[in-house]
Amino acid sequence: MHNNSRDPAPLRVLIIGAGFGGIGLAIRLQQAGIHDYLILEKAADVGGVWRENSYPGAACDVPSHLYSFSFEPKADWTRKYAPQAEILGYLRHCADKYGLRQHIRFGCEAVEAQFSEADGLWSVRCADGQELRTQALVCATGQLSRPAYPRISGLDNFRGKAFHSARWDHQVELRGKRVAVIGTGASAIQFVPQIAPKVSELLLFQRSAPYVIAKPDRPYADWERRIKARFPWLQRLDRGLKYIQHESRVLAFATFPPLMKLMRLNFYWHLRRGIADAQLRHRLIPDYPLGCKRILISNDYYPALARDNVRVVDQGIREVTDDAVVTQDGQRHPVDVIIFGTGFAATDFLAPMRIQGLGGRGLEQAWAAGAEAYKGISVSGFPNLFILYGPNTNLGHNSIVYMLESQFPYVLACLKRLREQGLRYLDVKAEVQSAYNRRLQHSLQHTVWESGCDSWYKTASGRNTNNWPGYTFLYRRQTQQPEFADYDCTR
Ligand SMILES: Cc1cc2nc3c(=O)[nH]c(=O)nc-3n(C[C@H](O)[C@H](O)[C@H](O)COP(=O)(O)OP(=O)(O)OC[C@H]3O[C@@H](n4cnc5c(N)ncnc54)[C@H](O)[C@@H]3O)c2cc1C
Repeated sequence: MHNNSRDPAPLRVLIIGAGFGGIGLAIRLQQAGIHDYLILEKAADVGGVWRENSYPGAACDVPSHLYSFSFEPKADWTRKYAPQAEILGYLRHCADKYGLRQHIRFGCEAVEAQFSEADGLWSVRCADGQELRTQALVCATGQLSRPAYPRISGLDNFRGKAFHSARWDHQVELRGKRVAVIGTGASAIQFVPQIAPKVSELLLFQRSAPYVIAKPDRPYADWERRIKARFPWLQRLDRGLKYIQHESRVLAFATFPPLMKLMRLNFYWHLRRGIADAQLRHRLIPDYPLGCKRILISNDYYPALARDNVRVVDQGIREVTDDAVVTQDGQRHPVDVIIFGTGFAATDFLAPMRIQGLGGRGLEQAWAAGAEAYKGISVSGFPNLFILYGPNTNLGHNSIVYMLESQFPYVLACLKRLREQGLRYLDVKAEVQSAYNRRLQHSLQHTVWESGCDSWYKTASGRNTNNWPGYTFLYRRQTQQPEFADYDCTR
């Protein structure tokens, strides 16, 4: 493979990132007979978020038969919502089965990419100084791969252990410790019930209560797994039904938000079942409309909060001292360990990579008002750059793998076009991209995400740069075949 520090022959495709996006596209490239590609992965293994998020209780919240590649079904998922280790195992299996590892350069972090108009090639530089040239550059770095830490004064003075849930420190013994958990998002609601029985005291610092509803999870019986392996059409049927069931939620999210009222009843019922104490229950009711932030699913979160050794603190944090968290009301809360369940820098997209397109223009300049792309994939002025799971392709209601699988054929068709027409580059027209995003932002105005809350879907200025505003089959229709008239095709 390509081992010297500056490869002489340019690659056809260079992919950055070996999560669901990079792995899935690589499989599709192989199947299309394209073997002249390389994946750069900064970590030592494949897996993306499923390698990084090894915290206790980590699991998907979209059923595994749907949250996996349609072209690489796994009949023997152990439960409806598989745990992290099993999903990571699945991605490793994909890499091994399709012989992808020989195409992956591990421990290689891309820091800079520069487009040269003269030869239509991207030069990509890695943190260790390696340089690669490629015709097409695919960024598969995900939306949730950079942990976000809260800015709290005095954090550096804390003498105990402190870590983020996406960088779980398995060396830290939590048994018998006083633990502060900061944040109540999708990760926190998964690990809090796991650690609560071990620790002596758990203080949950809640800025904004999440909506948590029941998780319809269960283990699959042996016979179910056998029958799915024996009759693959049954698995496809099951996947299809789950897809339709999840898709129907768009009705409430985007088409007719008053439908959320029904889900709200479901939430109240779940909360009441989990928390007997009326006062605590009251503090766990969110102060924003249901659906505005991600709706979370868990059967053990509320029972964990009802435990005697767990306390919900909804006062804001003023500072951290060497051994305590101090809240705005001046109260000191002595703790041994701090765990951040504060999510990810989701609106930063390809940062901190420095990407320079036509005329040396930086992507951070192009995205000064917030990230945007054409169909979430192409950015005007950055020819032959393709983003997977890019701007406005995140979902609140269905599987991201479905969105990625809509993007793969689009990228493949562009690669084919470049080759067949002998093009130097494809660059989406600026006016096409603007018109597309005007329509998209207009559709977003009618969604529940605009009903009055901050969320990780939005930039500081309130622009929703992350979510797709509607049905995913409409996205698939849009991405089925590129409209090459939308691109400047330069020879
Ligand atoms: C805890 C958690 C649970 C989730 N659960 C679900 C779920 O149930 N259903 C769902 O649909 N979605 C879920 N998601 C969303 C998830 O991000 C996507 O489903 C999907 O995993 C995205 O895959 P990806 O390949 O695009 O990105 P990632 O999985 O983030 O992979 C990106 C890869 O790129 C690498 N990388 C980044 N920058 C560089 C660089 N500069 N150079 C080299 N390599 C780099 C990273 O190391 C990483 O391996 C979850 C996310 C998290 C964090």
